[in-house]
This record gives sequence, structure tokens and C-alpha cells, in this order.
Amino acid sequence: MATKAEKDVYAKLARYGCVLCKQTGIRELEDSPTEMHHIRRYGGKRNLAPVIPLCAIHHRLGDSSIHALGHKGFEKYWGFSEEDLLNRLDDK
Ligand SMILES: [Zn+2]
Ligand SMILES: [Zn+2]
Repeated sequence: MATKAEKDVYAKLARYGCVLCKQTGIRELEDSPTEMHHIRRYGGKRNLAPVIPLCAIHHRLGDSSIHALGHKGFEKYWGFSEEDLLNRLDDK
């Protein structure tokens, strides 16, 4: 169950769009709905985990998606980690 504060954050991130598409300049899919990816390494409590907005391709559908590659594989493939993308959100 998302709280009101979480929903506000998610709405803002959804408007921001896929952070990986922005980072790479590649839009895999036009108008792909933005999905929230929880970075689970912190503590494990899902609703406290930081989230990054990703398009469906980069989130879970594509071969180079975070869920296809896993945390380490993702960093190796793209050259930056989930945390790097998270930090990128802050200085937009
Ligand atoms: Zn993307
Ligand atoms: Zn995810």
C-alpha cells in the first residue's frame, strides 16, 4: 500500500521519465509507461527502498533491463549502477 507521500514521489518520477533513457540518450520505446523500480539493497523494506523511474524495456522487458541483468550485470553492461541513476535524479 503506497502512502500519499509515496504516491506524490511516484507521480513526480513518472513525469521525469525513464532515467536510463535520459542517461543514454536512447529511447527504446516511445511513450513507454514509466515504471518504478525499487532499489532493494537497503534494508529490504520495500516501501522504504528508494525508487528510480524506468521504462518497461529498461525495467524488466529488454535483455538489458535491470531485472534481466541483475544489479551487478546492470552496472557492468551500462557502466553505472542503480545508485548512480538514483543520484542522477537528485541533480536534475
Ligand atoms: Zn528507458
Ligand atoms: Zn524493478
